[in-house]
Amino acid sequence: MVVHSQGLSEGSIAAICRAHDNDRTRMLDIVRQVQAQRGSVGAEAIDEIAAQIGVPRVAVEGVVSFYSFLSTEPKGRVVIRLCNDVVDEMKGSAVVAESLECELGIRFGETTADGKFSLEYASCIGMSDQAPAALVNDLVVTRLGPGSAVRGVRKLAEVDDLDDLRRILVRSYGDGNNAHDLVRASVNNNLRLKGEVIFGATEHGEGLSKALSMSPAEVIREVKTSRLRGRGGAGFPTGMKWEFTRAAAGEERTLICNADEGEPGTFKDRVILTERPHLLFEGMTVAGYAIGARRGILYLRGEYVYLRRFLEHILEERREAGLLGEKVGGKEGFDFDIRIQMGAGAYICGEETALIHSCEGGRGDPKNRPPFPAQQGYLDMPTSVNNVETLCCVARILEKGSGWFSSFGSAGSTGTKLLSISGDCMRPGVYEVPFGVTLREVFEMCGAERPLAAQVGGPSGQMVAENDFDRTLCYDDLATGGALMVFRQGRNVVDIAARFMRFFVDESCGYCTPCRVGNVLLEKRLNKILSGRGELADLDYLEELARSVKATSRCGLGQTAPNPVLSTLANFRSAYERLLIVPQDGRQASFDIHRALAESQKLTGRKSVHYAS
Ligand code: SF4
Repeated sequence: MVVHSQGLSEGSIAAICRAHDNDRTRMLDIVRQVQAQRGSVGAEAIDEIAAQIGVPRVAVEGVVSFYSFLSTEPKGRVVIRLCNDVVDEMKGSAVVAESLECELGIRFGETTADGKFSLEYASCIGMSDQAPAALVNDLVVTRLGPGSAVRGVRKLAEVDDLDDLRRILVRSYGDGNNAHDLVRASVNNNLRLKGEVIFGATEHGEGLSKALSMSPAEVIREVKTSRLRGRGGAGFPTGMKWEFTRAAAGEERTLICNADEGEPGTFKDRVILTERPHLLFEGMTVAGYAIGARRGILYLRGEYVYLRRFLEHILEERREAGLLGEKVGGKEGFDFDIRIQMGAGAYICGEETALIHSCEGGRGDPKNRPPFPAQQGYLDMPTSVNNVETLCCVARILEKGSGWFSSFGSAGSTGTKLLSISGDCMRPGVYEVPFGVTLREVFEMCGAERPLAAQVGGPSGQMVAENDFDRTLCYDDLATGGALMVFRQGRNVVDIAARFMRFFVDESCGYCTPCRVGNVLLEKRLNKILSGRGELADLDYLEELARSVKATSRCGLGQTAPNPVLSTLANFRSAYERLLIVPQDGRQASFDIHRALAESQKLTGRKSVHYAS
C-alpha cells in the first residue's frame, strides 16, 4: 500500500534516481515513486529528475503529463478513482459518484480544501465482473453502493494515519491468491469455467525443462505446429513472430509480456496473474529461450499494482530455484531474467509500440511501423511482445505437445480462449472455452438475461445482434481478445456506442488528427442523435466519418475506435432510426434550403436570384 506523504527531504529524489541507476529508461518507475511519496511530481521535482538522469526537462514533463496516475499538481492524500465504464454505469456507478460528491462536497476532478480527498474517474480498472469498483490510492474496492462508499469515506475522514487503508476499508479478502499475504485484496477471481489449457492440471516446470532439452529452432517449430495465435486480439501466429525476432539483426533481444489489458470489460489476465503466475513466467522463459533473449519484461498495468509484491515474490522464488538468472534450469549459455515494469494509467500502452516506448521510460506514444518490433523494438533491438494468455499457452504446448494443444478448438483457431464476461448476466467472470463455441452457448453458461446484444472484443470489437447469436467465437468468425459484454433487451445501443466513443476520445494520445478530431466528431453526432435532434443524414455522416477515421489513423486505437459506430449502425439501424426526428408534412426538421437549391440548380443549370427586400 502506498499512501503518499508530503515534504520529503531534497535528497530523496536523488536517492530514488540512484536506486534506478540514474537510468533514463527507468524514468517511469522514478516518477511513479516520486508521485507516490509526494503526491505529485511538481516543477522542482521534474527539474531534479531531469538533472539526475541526464535528460531534458521536457522529457520528464512529457512523461508526467501523459499518464493519468501522474500529476504535476498536488492531489489529495486519498485519491478515489471510480470506474465509469459502461458496465460500471449499468451497475450503478453514477449513484455512487453522486453520493461521494455529496459527502465530500466536491465534484469529480476536484480535491477537498483540506487536501485529504480527490475524486477522479477511471475508464477501466479491470473489475467489470464486480462493478461498481474503484481504486482508493492503490487499493481496489469492489461492489460499491452509495451506502458503502459513503461509510468508507467517513471512516477515512476520521483518521489521520492513512498508512493502512486496507485495514480501514476492506472487511474480507477474495478467493484464491487474492487472500495471499502479499495481495490481501477484496477482489474475487470469479473463475467460472476452467478449461484444459490455462486452468487445467499442470506439471509445473515440465514445459520449460522440455524446451531446454530442445534447440530454440525446435521450440519455435513446436509452437508453429500447434498453430498458436496471439490471444490479445490480432491473432498473429506466435511461432512466426518468434522466428522473425530470432532472425532479426541485433546484439540483444527482449521478450515483453503485455499485461496491460485496459479495454473496458477485459479482466481475464488479472485472474491468470493471480492464479497462474508460475505458468506465465514459465511461458516467458520458454519464449526468451526461443528468441534468444536475456531480458524479459512484464508490463503490468498500473491498476494491478496490488499484485506487484506477490508477482515479485514469485519471481524471487523462481530465481532461487534456478529458473531465472544465469544458466536457467542448468542450461549452459541461457541467462534470462524478468523485471516488472509498472504502467501508470494509459490505455494506449496496450498497443505494442506504445508499450515499448513506455518500457523505455517514455510517454506511451505509438511508433510508425515498419520497422516492426521484431526487427527494432525495445531500445531499437529485436523484441517480441506477447500476451499473458499466449505465453501461458506456450508453457502448456511445450509440456503436453502441439498435438494435444491443437486437439482443442477449431482448425484455424486451436486451443482454448479465456473470456471475460460482464454486463447483464447472472454469472459474470472468467470462462475458459474451446474456440468455436457459439454466442448462444456462452449466454447459456453465464446466465444472460434476455440478451439484446453482445459486445464481442471490447469497445473496439463489434456489437452483435440476435440474428448472429449462433456465430462462433474464433479468429475466422467473431474474433475476440476476450472481452464479452452482454446487454439485455431494453438497453439503448446508441447510448452504449456513445459511451464507447467517449472512452476512445479520452484515451487517444492525440498525435494524429483523424483520431484526435474524428472520434470527437463521432461522439458529438451520436449525442446529437441521443438528444432527439438527429436526422437521417446524420447516419450517413457517421458512417462516412467512421470509415475515414479507421482508414487514416496511425495506430490500432484510431483504426478500431469507430467500430462501435459502424457495428451498431450495421446491426441496430432501427435503434438509430427510432431516435431520429420524424419528418412532418414531408419536411425535414433542419431542412437546408441553400443546399437543396444548389442541387436543383446543378440539374437545371439555373442560378439563384436574390431579391432585395
Ligand atoms: Fe494516437 Fe490515436 Fe493517432 Fe494512435 S491513432 S497515434 S492513439 S492519435
